[in-house]
Amino acid sequence: MSKHILSKSTFIRGVQCQKSLYLHKHRPFLRDKMSAEQLAKFRRGTDVGLLAQSLFPGGTDMSPRSPSQYALKVKETALAIENPNTKVLYEAVFQYDDVLVMLDILVRANEGWHAYEVKSSLSLSETYYTDAALQYFVLTGSGIRLTDFSLVYINSNYQRYGVLNLEELFVSESVMAEADRRQQEVAARIIQSKQTLLGTSSPEIQIGIQCNKPYPCDFKGLCWKKVPKRSVLNLTAIDDETKFAWYHQGIVTPEQLKLSYLNQLQIKQLGAIVDNSYYIDLEKLYALRDQTKATDLVYAEILFQKPAVPQFDGCIPYQLFPLAIGLSWGDQESIVAAFSPGEAGIIRFIDTLYDALTIHKTLVVFDKQPLEIFARQFEAVGTPESKDKLRSLLENTLGLTGLLQACDFFHPDCGSGITLATLYKVIAPDQKALRDIHWLMSELIADPDLFKQQYSLQYVMENTLAIKAIFTYFNASDI
Ligand code: SF4
Repeated sequence: MSKHILSKSTFIRGVQCQKSLYLHKHRPFLRDKMSAEQLAKFRRGTDVGLLAQSLFPGGTDMSPRSPSQYALKVKETALAIENPNTKVLYEAVFQYDDVLVMLDILVRANEGWHAYEVKSSLSLSETYYTDAALQYFVLTGSGIRLTDFSLVYINSNYQRYGVLNLEELFVSESVMAEADRRQQEVAARIIQSKQTLLGTSSPEIQIGIQCNKPYPCDFKGLCWKKVPKRSVLNLTAIDDETKFAWYHQGIVTPEQLKLSYLNQLQIKQLGAIVDNSYYIDLEKLYALRDQTKATDLVYAEILFQKPAVPQFDGCIPYQLFPLAIGLSWGDQESIVAAFSPGEAGIIRFIDTLYDALTIHKTLVVFDKQPLEIFARQFEAVGTPESKDKLRSLLENTLGLTGLLQACDFFHPDCGSGITLATLYKVIAPDQKALRDIHWLMSELIADPDLFKQQYSLQYVMENTLAIKAIFTYFNASDI
């Protein structure tokens, strides 16, 4: 059997951008480093896939231990399918038309096989349908008689009581008709992708919306290197289609843009790009900050984790759990704490924040939204006393991002999704850069070792002090 040319992931990459496909195969060393957030997503997908296998117990695992085993596993899968005693296969490997796929679960049905592909998300996306259509193409092309093809994903309405009920935790949705409808398109995409890979240079493709959708491309470092640091692409008050259209017409720098194209807010953003500075509506800021007395504040960095699988009674999938907090007030006093997953950890988290508020009047966090979501979800499981404390906490919490958005804050380096690290770099450029938040969370979740947790908690404290520095900056009288 000849070596495959495409896999499921490279096919999906090619659907997003043919240049990305070419570079991935022929110039992988030019790829950007994978972010901690992407690594965490990848690990989560693997864990959920293994759990879903228990829906169909007793299967044979066909997973190749290394790429050198792909051809062997294709043959073993074919033999297993011919064996009438085989009822369930996990990670069955198929190759057809130079495309290799691994299917999460294959179950013998009356007159054929039912294929299941598992997703760790709460809903189905366009990419998942494309993914299913490719698998359907390869399986049917390999001669597998499919009675159905389903995508299995997590049921957002599931609430855990007692032992985890996998039948209720997962939703199975037949997508065979949709996969069948897309077969011509899949065949055409495979031809296109194979031609791209046979080429001697990467296809000429301009940067565009596809660089970020559906996934951030890991060749942006290469393709975007000619984009000036200050360009019209930095504007957040304009849709992507318009910005890229301008960019490709040669309107690249803010100075090339006619002001008559823009509204007042867009003009303010343009000014900030030219000055390499930020814009904020000071009138709105003064009005909002007057509601807070600087002496009554306690600053908090709160890290939540979002496990896909509900942890205990009353919990739902992806429910937020406190992972760690850092608190700072006055000049010196500060505490950091990590919380064990479960009810006791949640109660300790609420009490720690509540106690801080008995001394101070307002809690300042970077983003209030996760705390609001946590409180909503906690309504189903908390004790009346804890819920009262949490409501009181929320009433007295101020979110920095909410405050800045209400004042139309813009800085070209922050973009539309402001993070603590980018904002701190803008406000305190001479200070040490903050650690990536997703890295920090993975470290805290992955390692129960107390010494290493203490090490990671130092970074939680650094974030807390950064929140304090940013709020103090925007609260200063001379801003
Ligand atoms: S950065 Fe954009 S243009 Fe370049 S390979 Fe990725 S998606 Fe394609």
